Amino acid sequence: MVDLVILGTGSMVPTKERNVQAFYLEFNGEGMLFDCGEGTQRQMNLAGISRAKVRRIFLTHWHGDHVAGLIGLIQTIGNSNYEGTLSIYGPKGTKERMFHLMNATVFENKVEIAVHELAPKDGEELFFLDNEKHKVGCVKVDHTTPTIGYAWHEKERTRVDMATCAKLGLKEGPLVGRLSRGEPVEHDGKRILPEDVTFRVAGKKIAFIPDTQLCEGLPLLAHYADVLVCESTYYSRELDKADGYKHLTAAQAAQVASQADAKRLILTHFSQRYASVEPLLEEARTVFPNTDAAFDLMKITL
Ligand SMILES: [Zn+2]
Ligand SMILES: [Zn+2]
Repeated sequence: MVDLVILGTGSMVPTKERNVQAFYLEFNGEGMLFDCGEGTQRQMNLAGISRAKVRRIFLTHWHGDHVAGLIGLIQTIGNSNYEGTLSIYGPKGTKERMFHLMNATVFENKVEIAVHELAPKDGEELFFLDNEKHKVGCVKVDHTTPTIGYAWHEKERTRVDMATCAKLGLKEGPLVGRLSRGEPVEHDGKRILPEDVTFRVAGKKIAFIPDTQLCEGLPLLAHYADVLVCESTYYSRELDKADGYKHLTAAQAAQVASQADAKRLILTHFSQRYASVEPLLEEARTVFPNTDAAFDLMKITL
């Protein structure tokens, strides 16, 4: 099971209703944070997320609404009983900016930090993290500063068909455990092979499209995503602004989801000009019906 908590859903400045950007994803007991806008720590408090669980932070780009909460979070983590390394990933320039950030306030850093710069080529998904059960890829997108989007992929996994096991007289226990790990077993004088009682289940995919205009990287991120969280700063009426500042409209976000066969679209990164995001949601739903508008602390479990 994977939990996604959308911690902030506004763009540029926090409002009463919406904090700026951050998403938290928890899988297998490990916390991953995607962006860390101002106020992310408080949003984590409200969502009941332990900061010490964050092992990796993936930054999309260095605009303040995506990173201004980072230094506070690093200081807090350092003052907890944090063990191990905090890995921070980001686009070109991240190492230099992290150096300046770490020297921007007076504090004694107690966390070991590893900074990784990612440089995916045009139109490629670069897999930079590959664990036993999941992997993470990044894709270059087109914003006003170097920017990357991320896709989290759960790997295909083996499930045991307990109905078939029951027919063979097998109950939940060590023998079934061995079969699920791909080992043959002996039972009632018969040899049972893993393929007799197991089947493969496709892993889930959660993709994040950050600030960008339409570009060739977006279909790669969105492709078959179970959940696509996508920026939609503007309503189509403000298409000129979206183009000028290199952002997406809600209708464009929906087109990306539709063309890439994503299963569910979550709109986020709303301009503060909209008192209600209902019109953005409506225009997206005419293109891609399975769309929702994100709200702060929205939680999705897959
Ligand atoms: Zn932004
Ligand atoms: Zn931006």
